[in-house]
Amino acid sequence: MDKSIAVDIGFIGLGANLGDPVATLSSALSQIAELAHVELLACSSFYDSVPMGPSEQPNYTNAVCKISTTLDGLSLLKQLQHIEQTHGRIRTGDHWGPRTLDLDLLILGNQTYHTDELTLPHYGMQGREFVLVPMFELQPDLLMPDNTPIAKWVSECDVSQLRRISLN
Ligand code: ATP
Ligand code: CA
Ligand code: CA
Repeated sequence: MDKSIAVDIGFIGLGANLGDPVATLSSALSQIAELAHVELLACSSFYDSVPMGPSEQPNYTNAVCKISTTLDGLSLLKQLQHIEQTHGRIRTGDHWGPRTLDLDLLILGNQTYHTDELTLPHYGMQGREFVLVPMFELQPDLLMPDNTPIAKWVSECDVSQLRRISLN
């Protein structure tokens, strides 16, 4: 019998536009690194991006991190939601409204979920430059869920208002 535990490579999108977004993303990354059964492999640069949806809100700071884990997607999502809560995330029901921290599970190996609680791979990667550019930075040869090279999706999105933040 095969007793090996499956390890999946995953990508998590981080975003924040209230409070001190750079400090929040740094702190969230530390918390991800400390999760049981999760190894933080790499994190992209931080990016400044214009908000999607309601425009009367501050710019976002975004990043993507790459992990390996033996967790299933739903267990990992619950851990990520707990980290959002510890940063004072308030769910107002205002879609794409401002928030102290947003953690989206983008891809987790070949795991797929099709529920309201978890759609995996994340439905909204295509066209979101603040997700694709940092992901491309981490793994330029990544294939997206429909087997399209990530470079193609990057080339199709509008990066004119995305700025890499230099952190001292
Ligand atoms: P979007 O998902 O379009 O980026 P959002 O991040 O603003 O929008 P939230 O309000 O943070 O949306 O989350 C709404 C719900 O989405 C959450 O309750 C969560 O259970 C669900 N959800 C479904 N799939 C995922 C996923 N892959 N990662 C994170 N949350 C997800
Ligand atoms: Ca999101
Ligand atoms: Ca989210």
